[in-house]
Amino acid sequence: MVNLHEPYDLFREKLLNGTETVEQRTQAFLSEIIKRKELNAFLTVFEEEAMQRAKEIDTKIQNGTAGSLAGMIVAVKDVVCMKGKRTTCASKMLADYEAIYDATVVQRLNNADALFIGKTNMDEFAMGSSGENSAFGAVKNPVDETRVPGGSSSGSAVAVAAHLSTSSLGTDTGGSIRQPAGFCGIAGLKPTYGRVSRYGLVAYASSFDQIGPFAHSARDIARVLQVIAGYDECDSTSANIPVPNYLEAMNRNVKGLRIGMPKEYFPDALNSEIRSVLQKKIDLLKAHGAEIVEVSLPHSEYTIATYYILATAEASSNLARYDGARYGYRSRQANDLEQMYTKSRSEGFGEEVKRRIMLGTYVLSSGYYDAYYRKAQKVRRLIQKDFLDVFQHVDCLVTPIAPTTAFKIGEKVSDPLQMYLNDIYTVSANLAGIPGICVNAGADANGLPIGIQFLGKQFDEATILRVADFVESIH
Ligand code: GLN
Repeated sequence: MVNLHEPYDLFREKLLNGTETVEQRTQAFLSEIIKRKELNAFLTVFEEEAMQRAKEIDTKIQNGTAGSLAGMIVAVKDVVCMKGKRTTCASKMLADYEAIYDATVVQRLNNADALFIGKTNMDEFAMGSSGENSAFGAVKNPVDETRVPGGSSSGSAVAVAAHLSTSSLGTDTGGSIRQPAGFCGIAGLKPTYGRVSRYGLVAYASSFDQIGPFAHSARDIARVLQVIAGYDECDSTSANIPVPNYLEAMNRNVKGLRIGMPKEYFPDALNSEIRSVLQKKIDLLKAHGAEIVEVSLPHSEYTIATYYILATAEASSNLARYDGARYGYRSRQANDLEQMYTKSRSEGFGEEVKRRIMLGTYVLSSGYYDAYYRKAQKVRRLIQKDFLDVFQHVDCLVTPIAPTTAFKIGEKVSDPLQMYLNDIYTVSANLAGIPGICVNAGADANGLPIGIQFLGKQFDEATILRVADFVESIH
C-alpha cells in the first residue's frame, strides 16, 4: 500500500531499492485528488500524461539515469506557463489560454525528473490573501473546510497539505507562498528577488514577484530550490550568483547564530496564542545556543501602504496587455474598438483585479504620481535600508506569519482593507527583496496551524533553511 503521508526521504529510499514505483505513487495521488475534489485545489489534472511520465521515470530509475528529483510529484500554480497547457491565472480573462512555452522553472524541474501532476487554483492573477478571489471558486483549507487556506497560492498550499502532491510551486509577491503555508501547516519559501527565474511567470508586480516551493519540510523545500534557483539569461532580473548546496547547510545546529526579533512584529496586541507558540520555539532556539536579539525595523508601519501603492501600480501596467485583442477573453457585446477594450476588460476581470487596476492607475496618474507612487518608491528604499541595517548585527529575523490563524470563508471578502491588513508581516520581504520562509510552529486551541517566519539576508536562503529545519526538528 502506498502511504502518501510518508516523508519524501523515505519514499525515495523505497524507490531506489525497488520496493515502490513512481507509477504507484502517481496513481495514488491521482485517486486522492479525485477524492478531495471539494477542496477545489486543482484547475487542471494531468491524469494520462502523469502516468506516462511516471513510467518513463521508473525506467530511468532502473537504468540508474534518473535525475535528483525522481519521485518528486509537483503541482504548479496556474500562473506559471507549461507548454500546451491551460494557464488561466484563475481568471475568466485567460480561461482558455494555452501557454506556448515552458517557464524556466518547469524546464529545470523536468530535467531533474520531477513529475507534474496538475495546475492549481489561486486568487485571480495572484491578487488576494485567502484563495477566495478565483473565477473558478474558493479553495478550502483541509484542516477545516469552513476556513480559507490563505492566498494567493491557495491551491498549491492545499495540494501539499492534503497530500495531493509531494511539493508544489507558488508565487510570492507580498506573502502568497508564506501565508498559505502558515494557514495550512506546511513549509513555504519565498526566495530572494532574482534567485529564481521569472521567465514564463505571468506578471503581477514585476519588482516583487518570485516563484518558490511548498513542501512538508524545509529539507524538501531545499531540494526543489536547489533545482530551480540560478541564473537564467531569459530573465534579465535573475542574478548571476552561485547557488550554494542548501541541504549541506542544514546541519541541525544553531549555536552562535544571531536571530533578531523585530519589536514592531511583536506588538502588544499580537494574538496571545500566536505569541506563546512562537515564544516556545524561540526559547528552544535559545536553549540550543542561538542568540536572540531584540531589533527594530522603524519603517514597519508603512509597509502595507507602500506595498499596496507599488504593487497595484505595477499590476495596472502589467495587466494592460489583456485588451481583448492579444490575449484571452473578448466581449461579444462590443460594436467598436473602444467598446471591445472596455467590455472585454469589464467582463473578463474579477472584482479584486479591477479594484487593483483602478488603484494602480490612480497612483500613477499625473497629479497624483508624486504624492503616491514616487513617495512610495522613496519609502520602499527606507524599508530596504531598515533590513540592511539590522542584518549588520543579526544573521536572520524571526516573526509571526500573519496576525491570525486561518479565518472563515466569507469573513473578509466584503472588506478589502481588512484583507490587505492580513499581509502585515509578509509584504516587507518583497519590498526589500529578501528571502523568507514559513514553517509550522504549532496550533491554536481550534487546531488551526500557526506558522513561524524567518527572514534572511539577500541570497542567504541557506541560513533561513537551516533555522527552519532546526525548528521543525525540535519540540
Ligand atoms: N496578498 C497580497 C496581495 O494580494 C500578496 C499576493 C501575492 O503574494 N501574490 O497582493
